[in-house]
Amino acid sequence: MARPYNFSAGPAAMPAEVLQQAASEMLDWHGSGMSVMEMSHRGQEFGAILKSTEADLRELLAVPENFRILFMQGGGLGENAIVPLNLSRGETVDFVVTGSWSKKSLKEARRYCTARVAASNEADHHTHLPAPATWQLSRDARYVHLCSNETINGVEVHELPDLKALGADAPLVIDFSSHVASRTVDWSRVGLAFGGAQKNLGPAGLTLVVVREDLLGHALQICPSAFDYKTVADNHSMYNTPPTYAIYMAGLTFQWLKRQTEGALRGVAAMEARNVAKADLLYGCIDESAFYSNQVAKDCRSRMNVPFFLRDESRNEAFLAGAKAAGLLQLKGHKSVGGMRASIYNAMPIEGVQALVAYMREFEKTQA
Ligand SMILES: *Cc1c(COP(=O)(O)O)cnc(C)c1O
Repeated sequence: MARPYNFSAGPAAMPAEVLQQAASEMLDWHGSGMSVMEMSHRGQEFGAILKSTEADLRELLAVPENFRILFMQGGGLGENAIVPLNLSRGETVDFVVTGSWSKKSLKEARRYCTARVAASNEADHHTHLPAPATWQLSRDARYVHLCSNETINGVEVHELPDLKALGADAPLVIDFSSHVASRTVDWSRVGLAFGGAQKNLGPAGLTLVVVREDLLGHALQICPSAFDYKTVADNHSMYNTPPTYAIYMAGLTFQWLKRQTEGALRGVAAMEARNVAKADLLYGCIDESAFYSNQVAKDCRSRMNVPFFLRDESRNEAFLAGAKAAGLLQLKGHKSVGGMRASIYNAMPIEGVQALVAYMREFEKTQA
């Protein structure tokens, strides 16, 4: 039986192969007689899972040796506090506001440090990316925060800024929750990256942090020990019980990613090529139609989250009902933006986007 295509922004669709493997291992993982959920996190079985999950991620994202990979909890919003608690030293940090998520991050950081807005696209309703050359960076900032894919507004940073070239000494912190593993990362431009797992890696409950070693060990006194990056790193993500099952599921997703090929491309590079093709198909359909529209500037449109509007908004409910009947789920836009949103993460095959585009063209024809 074919499953419907699920366009949820998160928690989002997972590769069917991954779900099937998890189902087949549910009661007995590799002859251990236990579900992964039932294992001690300190036992050798889970130890092996954690080790291979971390190694696979390091390989997939080409994470350099001087970065630590941390498996944490608390989600993206938790990191909005945990990052300033660890990196700000209570001093000045800079924010680039590009949409709803970076705005939230800014607000939370202000509880712990002096957070300044270096650039913002709020005046144009988060539909373009302020050019890095225009950012008003502070001389003394402890870090610069950038959300590299704004899930709600559909704004993606396609080339990470080179802060050094902009005259700034501070490390770049990116919130890559909603496009992690959809494309390669230029780690030479990043000090820390964080993301919730539930968009592109696995189920909710796991938060990924990739942090350069020299940024460890500067947490504020008030930082909870379980959220002190150095404590987490020193204990190999086992200071307290990690989200074991979510880590296992992310590990299965990483194995799936490693198997993906696209011509000569493998892993994340193969996904990136596929994601470009998927996004081109969907934006092409929107742009060639007078019935659908997307407001985001073309140079920063997200490959993962595609918000779009119907010219006649009174047809929204009919559009969603017809989509559901056609096996296309969870296309309603975020309440702060309205309209529709198609999230087309790694697990969405091109066939799902083709089905959506066919439905959109069909729906448009009935609107004459
Ligand atoms: C989903 C998302 C978050 C929120 O993460 P939670 O796990 O709900 O705390 C943060 N940032 C971005 C960019 C997201 O897409």
